[in-house]
Amino acid sequence: MTLVVPEGLAAISNTAVVSESPAGPGRRAVTFADSIRMSTYLVAFVVGELEATPPVMVGKTPLRIWCVPGKTHLARVGQQIGAFSLEFFEQYYGLPYPGDKLDLLAIPDFAAGAMENLGAITFRETALLVDEAAASHTEIERVADVVAHEVAHMWFGDLVTMLWWNGIWLNEAFATFMELLAVDAWKPEWKRWVTFGVSRAAAMGVDGLVNTRPIEFEVKAPKDCEAMFDLLTYEKGASVLRMLEQHIGPDVFRDGVRLYLERHQFGNAETTDLWKALGDASRQPIPEVMDGWIFHPGYPLVRVEADGQGLRLSQRRFTYLGEDAAGRWRIPVVLRAWVKRGIIEKHVLLDGDDVVVPLPAAPEWAIVNAGGHGFYRVSYAPPLLKKLSGALPRLSPIERFSLVSDAFALAQSGAMSAAEYLELSARFTEETDRNVWAAITGSFAYLNRVIPSEQRSGLEALVRHRLTTAVERLGWEVEPEESELVRQLRGDLLRAMGTLGNDPVTQERARELYARQRAGGGAVDANVLPAIIAIVAANGGEAEYAEFWERFRAARTPQEEQRYLFALAGFRSPDLVRQTLGHTMDGEVRSQDAPFLMRALLGSVHGRELAWEFLREHWETMARVYPGSAYRRMYEGITALVSPHWESEVQEFFRSRGIVLGGKTLEQYLEQLRVAVRFQGRESAALGAYLSRPRR
Ligand SMILES: [Zn+2]
Repeated sequence: MTLVVPEGLAAISNTAVVSESPAGPGRRAVTFADSIRMSTYLVAFVVGELEATPPVMVGKTPLRIWCVPGKTHLARVGQQIGAFSLEFFEQYYGLPYPGDKLDLLAIPDFAAGAMENLGAITFRETALLVDEAAASHTEIERVADVVAHEVAHMWFGDLVTMLWWNGIWLNEAFATFMELLAVDAWKPEWKRWVTFGVSRAAAMGVDGLVNTRPIEFEVKAPKDCEAMFDLLTYEKGASVLRMLEQHIGPDVFRDGVRLYLERHQFGNAETTDLWKALGDASRQPIPEVMDGWIFHPGYPLVRVEADGQGLRLSQRRFTYLGEDAAGRWRIPVVLRAWVKRGIIEKHVLLDGDDVVVPLPAAPEWAIVNAGGHGFYRVSYAPPLLKKLSGALPRLSPIERFSLVSDAFALAQSGAMSAAEYLELSARFTEETDRNVWAAITGSFAYLNRVIPSEQRSGLEALVRHRLTTAVERLGWEVEPEESELVRQLRGDLLRAMGTLGNDPVTQERARELYARQRAGGGAVDANVLPAIIAIVAANGGEAEYAEFWERFRAARTPQEEQRYLFALAGFRSPDLVRQTLGHTMDGEVRSQDAPFLMRALLGSVHGRELAWEFLREHWETMARVYPGSAYRRMYEGITALVSPHWESEVQEFFRSRGIVLGGKTLEQYLEQLRVAVRFQGRESAALGAYLSRPRR
């Protein structure tokens, strides 16, 4: 590879520069070393006004971060996790890094999150550059995740490439799995596998639709490839790999991966090749366990009921529409029970319709999917659920998370009433884990989109009631020795309290702190500041809007830019909603971000009506100017248009325009809308009664 470029511009490709020479007036030729034998989609060259950090050496490999001039001071976290993960993977894979240098490049306009070009990985700025002193935990974690993910690809994807697009899930699921392993090793205090519960649940949200797909399926058209970059490929894929890793043991799993890479390096491979290598390492029939999870759509709902002294577990496929859908899985179930004042843990393979797990006495309580690694939901018979919800402190955070997440899914499907779910949520006022809170506040946000506006104040009162204990316990100030996760939880809860809960005291305090911060006098914690910005927007007028717009344009870090940009979608007055809608089309917002701003407006109960009108007017222009992958995702916003009237408008819109989103994406959005509208029809009277009860 030789690039002839104007003087003064940096030129980067997959390998190290071997020579540079003049190439006519104002130009120079840059020649790069030969790469390893690799797939053509991994070839990259980047030319532009860029500057690099000094390299850090990881063994023999120099690692640098590149960005537009003036931003190298934001490169520290990226370089640290880059170096850590490079070394971590060399050890895990048992093979040296296959390149001669590693450059990580932050590109200001970049449609995807990142791209794993060998030795020259390209990123969105938010995924690589961060000011660790001014960023929230979530923002820093995102950088760590994406960098570790891409570095994992240098072997799994680059050194060995899938033969065809049907195998892309394995590439991406594996890189996601490895990303979690590496970040968990880098910062054990982040408890990354617990946070992964949120991603797993998001995948279950899609995979619980009738219009889901198997993780692996035949790919013929380019549109089908695009549709594969979704939650099922990444998050469901990583979940089932984690389930397998836990099932056969981490060391055996790693040995199988090493065998696979050794056998296929510098070449192509298929899913079956990995199963073969894992089978050879574990001496277990891997396809028998895995095929149901990989080649069949959906996942099981495990029902738990008392059977004599023991428990009966039975399985059927879970769908939100409750339709009879076929499917049976080999489920490695982990069960923990409190029996006769002692803990009993059982590992059961549920591979038929049902199985009875004998216990020495009837349990005080029992949790199924203990440890939370299983990709299935659990439904407890009412007496068992009652006992379990009285034993919450005995459960781990991920187990409490699954309990809430599964219960709300059951409510969405009609297997549990919304009132029962809300009663269950009342048991969590003392909760301390941010993932559990994310599940709870997420369900309240869903209800907010479903209820009519006259019930909104009732929902706000319920949100305040559920959150007050935790919000008061945490306060606004950071305590010494407090973990990052607690600080992030504080931000999350304050945001929910001030927006969804519409709490006037929280809003007043947020305005005060924002004013103080603006005057340069405040030292608001970096985890709380994004919440303050969101709260100020939710209650803000013209002046705040103008200020946030300026702040967005003058932002000093990618994270700051995102906070102010997405805060614009939080303003509630119709005039300001219209202004933000205008900005999705006026070229002032990058096309990599505008579709997501549009999605946020569609998802807001204050913006959705105007946004839907705007979308119908401008979708053709959007299809032209937005990057394809982001344009497709924009339409996810239509799932918030929850009313029978909107639903028929939405269906008519897509039918008459012939819009194709690839794979089953459109069918999935429409079904999610169907689920919400059906929930609304079924529950609106009961919810109205529940929400009008006085609280406090
Ligand atoms: Zn990837």
